Amino acid sequence: ATFLSDRISALQESQTIAMAKKSRELAAQGHNVINLSFGEPDFQTPQYIKDAAKRALDEGYTKYTPVPGYVELRQAIADKLRRENRLEYQCENIVVSTGAKQALANAVMSMVNPGEEVIVLAPYWVSYEEMVRLAEGVSVRVMGSLENDYKATAAQIEEAITPRTKLIMYSSPCNPTGAVFSREELADIAAVLARHPQVFAIADEIYEYINFEGEHVSLAEFDEIKDQVITVNGFSKGYAMTGWRVGYLAARKEIAGACEKMQSQITSGTCSIAQRAALAALEGGRSSADEMVTAYHRRRDLVLKLVKEIPGFKTPTPAGAFYVFPDVSAYFGKKAPQGETIENATDLAMFLLNDAHVAAVTGEAFGAPNCMRFSTAAADEKLREAFIRIKDSLEKLV
Ligand code: PLP
Repeated sequence: ATFLSDRISALQESQTIAMAKKSRELAAQGHNVINLSFGEPDFQTPQYIKDAAKRALDEGYTKYTPVPGYVELRQAIADKLRRENRLEYQCENIVVSTGAKQALANAVMSMVNPGEEVIVLAPYWVSYEEMVRLAEGVSVRVMGSLENDYKATAAQIEEAITPRTKLIMYSSPCNPTGAVFSREELADIAAVLARHPQVFAIADEIYEYINFEGEHVSLAEFDEIKDQVITVNGFSKGYAMTGWRVGYLAARKEIAGACEKMQSQITSGTCSIAQRAALAALEGGRSSADEMVTAYHRRRDLVLKLVKEIPGFKTPTPAGAFYVFPDVSAYFGKKAPQGETIENATDLAMFLLNDAHVAAVTGEAFGAPNCMRFSTAAADEKLREAFIRIKDSLEKLV
């Protein structure tokens, strides 16, 4: 509509809306739709965290909180970053937000001027490019290769840097690919940042705990570039707390202060009860996460085995997160029984929804048009059933 702002008109709609609608229709018709499109743990929040939320209510934590979050929570986050990530931050460096998503948006809005470039390592999480667009920045995609598990290299990043580059954004473990940057790879990226001190980086570490191989490395561990790094993390994935809406960032004082200012005018501090629950989550350590990770690991292995039996799917082994991200381009150009041609991953996703009744997400949404994303955060039997159906449906394509 013409009365809406240019800003909102330029914003992309979620690419999964048509799929979600079709999925609901099929379910309403009585079909057993297996939904592997969610980016959400299928576990409940651990009981001790729920109990802390109940206590918070009874203890009267019902008022506005400080904009950047309760001091106790920020202190617990600083302790966590020191203990688990070897990062030295004080309370004043930490801003607690309404999910990691708001932390990312705060950082982008606080850092990017109109026309400035943001290098987004692709495949990327769906919201990065739209946040950059809202800030009137220009996103510059740097695509990792299948051979390198979709991880962009330091050399590729350096090549993309121009005098207008302001930021680099990535997630590790990565949504959608599950790829995890090694210490060596991040050291190389840190060296690039050291050569370009005007360039900052947002390291999205929301999947930190869901890592099956090797260590988690924070980009901010590299001391000489620590002030150029904004570390984003949260509670949604590791503690199965998606609905609670608590995330945070850690950054140098000026950036944390800017994010606090942004947040103070838009949302204020996030929910008081959720913050108390997040504090309890951290005090409980990561053993509840470790239990869930055991399940994610088992399912990753299960799904990889099933996916490898599907001809034409090329799937790197995800080291973390809870997705598999096969290249499905071998099916492009084939014809479905009804006669329609599968032109791209979006068509294939729609075909699999209609024919196999399995919902997944087209790689288009993540800047990887040859791929599809399947969540492995579902019960083992569902995953087994889903990939058997997918294999059967794909055999109908000629
Ligand atoms: N970053 C990545 C890579 C994600 O996948 C997600 C959630 O899907 C988020 C950030 C947002 O997390 P939160 O629920 O804390 O806002």
